[in-house]
Amino acid sequence: MLADKWIEIDISAVKNNLQEIKQHLNDRARLIAVIKANAYGHGAEDIARLLMQNGVDFFAVSFLHEALQLRKAGISADILVFSPIISKEEVLEAVKNKLTLTITSDNDREMLEQVGGSLTTHIKVHLKIDTGLGRFGMNQEEAVSVCRDINRNELLFPEGIYTHIADPGTPAFINQQFQQFMLVVNRLEQENFIIPVKHFANSSVFLSYPGMYLNAVRIGTLLSGQHPAGKFPVHLQLQDPYKFKSRIISVRVKERGSFLGYYRTHRLKHTAQIAVIPVGFNDGLAVEIANRPVGLWDMCKKMVKIILNYLNISRFSLNVTIKGKPYPIRGKVFMQMALVEIPLGVDVMVGDEVELPVRKTLVSRNIDRLYVQYGQAGKVANDGGTRYIVDND
Ligand SMILES: *Cc1c(COP(=O)(O)O)cnc(C)c1O
Repeated sequence: MLADKWIEIDISAVKNNLQEIKQHLNDRARLIAVIKANAYGHGAEDIARLLMQNGVDFFAVSFLHEALQLRKAGISADILVFSPIISKEEVLEAVKNKLTLTITSDNDREMLEQVGGSLTTHIKVHLKIDTGLGRFGMNQEEAVSVCRDINRNELLFPEGIYTHIADPGTPAFINQQFQQFMLVVNRLEQENFIIPVKHFANSSVFLSYPGMYLNAVRIGTLLSGQHPAGKFPVHLQLQDPYKFKSRIISVRVKERGSFLGYYRTHRLKHTAQIAVIPVGFNDGLAVEIANRPVGLWDMCKKMVKIILNYLNISRFSLNVTIKGKPYPIRGKVFMQMALVEIPLGVDVMVGDEVELPVRKTLVSRNIDRLYVQYGQAGKVANDGGTRYIVDND
């Protein structure tokens, strides 16, 4: 049976992105590949395996369950968990699986030591400093006090220390956070606490501030092929490995003046072919994150976009790609389907492949992923027990 929708991940694009990043690190800083949120939608286990085969030896995820899933899949490299561990059972699980944990407060330290008291192995920890994001982390005094307690006890090995930026668009604030972080680092060094791996940079800092790499960089977005617009001191040639694909399940000609979809929000200006695609908001199509606008300018941009979308200015409609050409999605996207307008005379039929624009991290996890290596036949991909042979020659 033909699958009606699937995700294609281009292995060579992932490798390319990794090489592009590594080329700027040399032996200066270690790469911590951030593969949280299912590797930004690319499939954490397969991406981790692929990155390991290509020399990555350090990963990071947000939560314990993400790290455990990677261990279960046989990923033996170091894995740093960003968020605090909140129960004793979880600490035991984490220690058993040799995970690297983040200490965000004195409470975290205390719980690790309480549980760890019965253990003989070290627990590798990284200290988290809050320099302005307001999520997790300690200030200078708390960090000093935690380090004193850690030093008293052989159990915890303080391998690293880090902080996370709050505002990638504001250089002055990035600098301020960096200075504040270095104050803490220097203070701890003065007190003779040795913490070998200091890290600050995420993707946007990586591009803009080579002077802030320190001993390691935490990179997610760039690995997944997204490069912010604009010029940067470090410029990478990235490739997007991700394609969301489906097939047309119906094509019919609809007369000029016909309405399309629920609430009849779209009226055809020309007689056209209307294709049905079996992908809807349930799959992540046309799903937006409804955060408060970042500022007045951001709000204006959002409003202009909505207005142009309402007026059916085609550059602002959501387009799918069929045989290399863009065609607009019309009407409201359904739960599991969407309508596409294709001019008369264009040769399309049921079964034709369609590429859709989706937000990778909002796509349903149930959709199969195919790992393909273009130009190489017989690549095997694996997703939750289903295996595919992909032949692109
Ligand atoms: C997500 C995350 C990163 C990676 O950020 P990118 O901008 O995607 O590279 C780094 N550090 C922390 C703490 C994160 O949560």
